[in-house]
Amino acid sequence: MKRREFICILGCIAAGCSSRRRTIIAAMAVLVLLPIEVSDAGRLSDIFKSSSKHGKSPKHVSSPKRHTVKLAALGPVALNLSALKPTCDPAKLRIVLDVGHTAESEGAISARNVAEFVFNRRLAQRIEEKLKAEGFARTTLLVTEGRARRSLLRRVAAANDMPASIFLSIHHDSVPNSFLENWEFEGKKSHFSDRFSGYSVFVSRDNPDFQTSLSFAELLAKEMKAQGLDYARQYSQPIMGRYQHPLLNRETGVYSYDELVVLRKTRMAAVLLEAGSIINRDEELKMASPEQRDIISSGVAAAVKTFCDARWAILGPL
Ligand SMILES: [Zn+2]
Repeated sequence: MKRREFICILGCIAAGCSSRRRTIIAAMAVLVLLPIEVSDAGRLSDIFKSSSKHGKSPKHVSSPKRHTVKLAALGPVALNLSALKPTCDPAKLRIVLDVGHTAESEGAISARNVAEFVFNRRLAQRIEEKLKAEGFARTTLLVTEGRARRSLLRRVAAANDMPASIFLSIHHDSVPNSFLENWEFEGKKSHFSDRFSGYSVFVSRDNPDFQTSLSFAELLAKEMKAQGLDYARQYSQPIMGRYQHPLLNRETGVYSYDELVVLRKTRMAAVLLEAGSIINRDEELKMASPEQRDIISSGVAAAVKTFCDARWAILGPL
């Protein structure tokens, strides 16, 4: 996307769609048997409800017999659920790290005239390293070529063909053109806006596995917050105009953005992370630092580990 066309994730991506109401079914009996960390994740029970339509037998969904037996044997007192936490097999979880935009369509331009694609690729590479170091050996970095719209369909097709378990698209944020201010950087006329900062996490309610997408998004946003980061508040405000989006979790910063192709056409849990604003002059410097990439990568890795454990606890090995 060219300069002054606001966010990276945008205009090129919309394909039009309608929101659908979805029913969230609470699985209280299952939650009781989950490790403490999983229960804390809020809607994680829905992962297992929604997963049945992806080839898992319903009996896996409601019969965590292994834990039932162990819990019964311990009796009614001194239950230490965390001690019963099962071990996920990270080596079998397929994660696609989608590098937002392409060398030909570079996304937003930072306050210091660096293309968003450069930021996206560096951060995604660090996340890939981190996840592989944690044992998630099937993590794949997805770098796409070509112009914007066509590249979106290519990324979706690549993820669906694998098929991946998690699709995570990595981006960096900007602002609508009307918020841009002028300044000069290294002798060149440039643009900035220091008005907004922070990360944001997006899901599409039109993703075929929306509940799992939302569960992973909430885990990711929670971990970003745990890393000491703040989320971008402006997307819920009317001043954002057509870029205003429903805020699904006001504690952690999960928004819905239903029409994004990479979120609605992928057939697995799909989440888009705007890691931070590169049009904000201070935040751009942070986002360019290895330290910030480490912080964000640690948050992503922690979210994936919790997701993996929660999935394993109910469905068993992949
Ligand atoms: Zn972008």
